Amino acid sequence: MALMTGKQYKESLNDGREVYINGERVKNIAEHPAFHPIIETKARMYDMNHEARYADVCTTKLEDGETICRAYKLPKAKEDLTAIRTYVDTVLDDLGGVVYRVGDETIGEMWSLYDAQDRLNEIDPTYAENIKNHVDRIARLDLFHVSANTDPKGDRSKLFEGKAAGTLLHVVEENDKGIVVRGAKFETAAAYAHQAFVKPTISNWTDQSMTPYACGFIADMGAPGLKHICRTPLSTGKNPVDYPLSTRFDEIDTLLVFDDVLIPWENVLFHGNLESAQYIRKTVHRYSAFNYVLRLQRRADFLLGTALLNVEQTGLTKIPAVQEKISQLICYRETINAHLTAAVANAQKSAGGLMMPNQSLLYTGRLYALTNFPKMAHLCRELVGGQLAVTPDSATIADPQIKEYIDQYYTLDGGWTPEKRTKLLYFARDLLNSAYGGHQITFELFAQAPPFAQYMAAFNHFDLNPVRDMVTKAAHLETDAKAELAMQK
Ligand SMILES: Cc1cc2nc3c(=O)[nH]c(=O)nc-3n(C[C@H](O)[C@H](O)[C@H](O)COP(=O)(O)OP(=O)(O)OC[C@H]3O[C@@H](n4cnc5c(N)ncnc54)[C@H](O)[C@@H]3O)c2cc1C
Repeated sequence: MALMTGKQYKESLNDGREVYINGERVKNIAEHPAFHPIIETKARMYDMNHEARYADVCTTKLEDGETICRAYKLPKAKEDLTAIRTYVDTVLDDLGGVVYRVGDETIGEMWSLYDAQDRLNEIDPTYAENIKNHVDRIARLDLFHVSANTDPKGDRSKLFEGKAAGTLLHVVEENDKGIVVRGAKFETAAAYAHQAFVKPTISNWTDQSMTPYACGFIADMGAPGLKHICRTPLSTGKNPVDYPLSTRFDEIDTLLVFDDVLIPWENVLFHGNLESAQYIRKTVHRYSAFNYVLRLQRRADFLLGTALLNVEQTGLTKIPAVQEKISQLICYRETINAHLTAAVANAQKSAGGLMMPNQSLLYTGRLYALTNFPKMAHLCRELVGGQLAVTPDSATIADPQIKEYIDQYYTLDGGWTPEKRTKLLYFARDLLNSAYGGHQITFELFAQAPPFAQYMAAFNHFDLNPVRDMVTKAAHLETDAKAELAMQK
């Protein structure tokens, strides 16, 4: 079976999963008000794969002719990376918003592990086989696959000892069926996904006492003992006209608790091996960062488009200082674009024979996009002006008793009616000022690891030798060293 429909996806979530939100246990997740909008958004993605107009972009074939979603094909050439980019852009165009944890971003973390197959073979060939099987299975069954990395860490000084160690995910039993795991992870979208790739991201794996924590596996999101404890939704009860983004794109985050969950052996990807944990920690975002930066580019487009339409509506476009601010948003957008384009143009072969985006250009692009996002959002906020904060909602402006005042104060030249003016302001408010807007800033800051860890990735993936050699030569350091040696003789 391949290519699920939206309807099949929604039905597949009725597997008895244990989901808690707003003080209640969820009965029918697809119909629950907190999840309904985002599940409809994901269902739309599934349906897109069945539409003839999207077939070339959204689907492709495996070697045996099976049709799969484009996002799930292992990248073996630069063209595959370009096709992933086109796929993400096409989906986000159709949806009219940005979603992150919808499968295509998180599959890349399995591809990073696929690259480690030779090393894993040395430890235990079953694990490498399991990884290959899962990469194939996800594509063929069209599963919504997410990624669980971060444990709620508690007291960092006691990570592997005492009570705090109980919060870190670890193996408590090994039997003929598989491993039994205990602990917790933070995980966006888990409550409405099919499975997660669970793995460690903590610490340096140097001490044998850490062995029970060094495990990676596929967890079924409906597995007995697994509890999804969800954060407060951002959009429930809100009018989609007033909040066009949050009412469709609130990707609910979860504290995913593993209360002694059995992981069958065929789902174990590595276990009890510090080297494997170390490897996944270093490489986990090798592919997934590409999709993440693509989404940040889309967020940059939204900032630029919102600021531009606003200054066009308010007649500010011709002021050079305003053009300069718009240009800053253009530079932001285009620098992200340049990183993505160059990361594909200079793509690198991985040890597993895949084509990975150029790692240095990708990680530096990720940092650039992430660290400048708040500044650019603020610039957009400044350009939209104070009306962003003071505009009445759609129910108020529809009141016939006040229509004449709204018409008077919200009509602008150039055919901008109060409806169009307020629609833009509502969009801008949701993008920049709403609970959703604030949540997104935190999400982007942490979704792919905290900034300090992203700086480490940039440091580790830039080849420092050429610049060291260049300055050594230009500053005649070698000559000096030779001269010094000569003097010592
Ligand atoms: C909205 C949201 C969605 C999320 N979704 C997911 C998900 O889908 N999957 C998933 O696995 N995780 C997810 N997470 C978890 C996220 O990945 C973690 O929050 C993130 O990796 C940071 O880990 P932490 O919270 O344990 O931060 P901590 O380790 O507590 O660090 C907090 C801060 O302390 C400082 N700090 C800590 N250690 C150091 C150091 N060594 N050097 C310098 N500074 C340091 C940094 O400023 C750092 O940002 C999500 C988090 C959020 C907020």
